[in-house]
Amino acid sequence: MKVRVRLAPSPTGYFHIGTARTALFNWLFARKNNGLFLLRIEDTDKERSKSEFTVDILDGLKWLGLNWDEEPVIQSKRLEEHKKAINKLLESGLAYRCYTTEEELDLLRETQIKEGKAPHYDNRHRNLSREQEKKFIHEGRTSVIRFKVEDQATIIWDDMVRGRMEWNSKDLGGDFVISRRATSNKIGDPLYNLVVVVDDAAMQISHIIRGEDHIANTAKQILLYKALSIKPPIFAHTPLILNAEGKKLSKRDGVTSIIDFKKMGYTANAMTNYMTLLGWSPPETMDEKFTLEESSSVFNFERVNKAGAKFDWDKLNWLNAQEIRNWSTSKLLDHLIPLWNKKGWEIPNQTLGLKLAELISPSLTIINDGIEQCEFFFNDPSLKDDGSEQLETEGAKECLGSILKILEDKPWDGNDISVAKEIIYNCSKSLGFKKGLIMKSLRAALMGSTKGPDLLISWGLLASVGKDINRLKKYI
Ligand code: GLU
Repeated sequence: MKVRVRLAPSPTGYFHIGTARTALFNWLFARKNNGLFLLRIEDTDKERSKSEFTVDILDGLKWLGLNWDEEPVIQSKRLEEHKKAINKLLESGLAYRCYTTEEELDLLRETQIKEGKAPHYDNRHRNLSREQEKKFIHEGRTSVIRFKVEDQATIIWDDMVRGRMEWNSKDLGGDFVISRRATSNKIGDPLYNLVVVVDDAAMQISHIIRGEDHIANTAKQILLYKALSIKPPIFAHTPLILNAEGKKLSKRDGVTSIIDFKKMGYTANAMTNYMTLLGWSPPETMDEKFTLEESSSVFNFERVNKAGAKFDWDKLNWLNAQEIRNWSTSKLLDHLIPLWNKKGWEIPNQTLGLKLAELISPSLTIINDGIEQCEFFFNDPSLKDDGSEQLETEGAKECLGSILKILEDKPWDGNDISVAKEIIYNCSKSLGFKKGLIMKSLRAALMGSTKGPDLLISWGLLASVGKDINRLKKYI
């Protein structure tokens, strides 16, 4: 069987990490099995679908490196096919018009709740006579179209993640609606379960891989496949992504859109690496840090867990830091320059930019840390508490004064680090200042804090643009 899988996002919001993880598992499965990864934009909810969200989803997939095959299918363009299927079901008596009004449905729901029952449609219009229908139409009632759910059937499928699945047809909430309300000679907008089945069949989808929140839909869809005489595909229901409290990760948990992760400075490789680990465990022989190439050569559903996957920022941060560390300095610089420019900071030349990028690379978790960590180079730093405490330490000012004197006699151009070492050596040997005091005080004066990247390289960078002397002067 040729593997053809798909991502079927609804463009009703920005590309969510849950959808991205579904895309990733589909992509990996397709690549592992020499299959195709297809896209279908489910834009039938006219009010909530927006083209900017479609663009965001496509851009997000491209950024993550999850390229798709064939032209994306646009669901709204397939309306006639959806209606044809509904007509077929009506003609074969497997679907019917239901004239129950919204008020009647509300009342039914309330009564069922009062009686302690789960709300469900009671199939009251399943077998209307021609006369009854005529009477309802005459009253001016509109109708939805409902699919007849077999009363006593057990729906069974072999799920690639969850194994044998069984669902009782009586637990599906009664005959379900497959097209929205319309006047009785029309078919209203076709609804999700129906259109998905029609489109997946038309796209010859072999495996449907999606979140476990769709399990109840799968049971309904299997009934529709049968009614339309189509062989159902194979299903895989992936675990949900959970927050720290074990609840489904939602907007309330802060960042959930791929675009936001990108904006924060997470890399595409760390994101795909981390999202793969959200539910899939690599074989023992494989490291936790891997590329798409590596995971796609071993991915299978036997290693996908049933249990929900907790989102772990520490792990994502660790992977991201590793990824940045592996980048070439020029690649990192290419990512830093736009961030610096946004702050109005211009790097004087490429060589200094590279030095700066190299300096901070080991301490970056996200690319955007490169704003805070490089600020000392562009702006005179404001003193942090530890910095000002250091400059109050006994001897600190005298020590800086001596360094300043040496520099004023013979300014350092910042290139040869051994010059800085010599200055510090002289200061400590001939003038008797402790090395710790010299280093800490220098750092506080030059960078505002006693913590930060390598002191001598940072000093060299400042010296090469003539900023060191002024900073020392400020604290003497
Ligand atoms: N449009 C649906 C969603 O975004 C697709 C679900 C499916 O994969 O069938 O949840």
